[in-house]
Amino acid sequence: MINIAIDGPAGAGKSTIARQLAAGLGYIYVDTGALYRAVGVNAMRKGADTKDVQQVTGTLGSADVSLRFVDGEQRVFLGDEDVSLAIRTPEASMAASNVSAIPAVREFLFDLQRDIAAKNNCIMDGRDIGTVVLPNAQVKIFLTASAEVRAKRRYDELLAKGMQADYKQVLDEMVQRDYQDSHRAIAPLKQADDAVLVDTSDMNLEQVLNTLNKIVKEKM
Ligand code: C5P
Repeated sequence: MINIAIDGPAGAGKSTIARQLAAGLGYIYVDTGALYRAVGVNAMRKGADTKDVQQVTGTLGSADVSLRFVDGEQRVFLGDEDVSLAIRTPEASMAASNVSAIPAVREFLFDLQRDIAAKNNCIMDGRDIGTVVLPNAQVKIFLTASAEVRAKRRYDELLAKGMQADYKQVLDEMVQRDYQDSHRAIAPLKQADDAVLVDTSDMNLEQVLNTLNKIVKEKM
């Protein structure tokens, strides 16, 4: 199977780009952040402090997380409930970042990610895909942009979804989340040695897509 790994900080445009790239190649797109979000939402619902290792680990038994692909679109389920929308709130973002630093959580989600990649041509995005989950991926890209640009994109995205948002708050939460994600002891956000760095701060969607398509073509 062909696996393309895209890692990078929050709001770098990973999901938008990966989705379009996957559609062009006929691959499935796997958003691994959704898995951590689902675990975080489940922990919150169970009343756990999402930073408390023991409390969060105690909720994993009830975290029946699965991904289903409907018309090529990934949906995330907790049991029979489609939580694809519920995991997109700012609280869920923070909960995801908190629980993702817990080794038991990463272990819990590891096989699920590996299995999908073993069975499908896919583009998988996250924080540790090129470094930990798919170290042998044929193509690895590290997508980034300045914090301000990323926050503005996320802010616009929230508004477009009809959610309330404050730019400064989005920026602050993003900076905090990136700090946590890059400084945790296990599988921190970092560029794999063999990943191609793409800074999208001054690029529009079309330019990013062209750049990535070129990289994919060269690598394969
Ligand atoms: O990509 P997204 O912003 O949805 O990810 C939510 C959180 O999940 C990230 O802030 C990060 O803490 C965690 N995550 C991770 N490893 C991944 C994907 C996401 O730790 N592969």
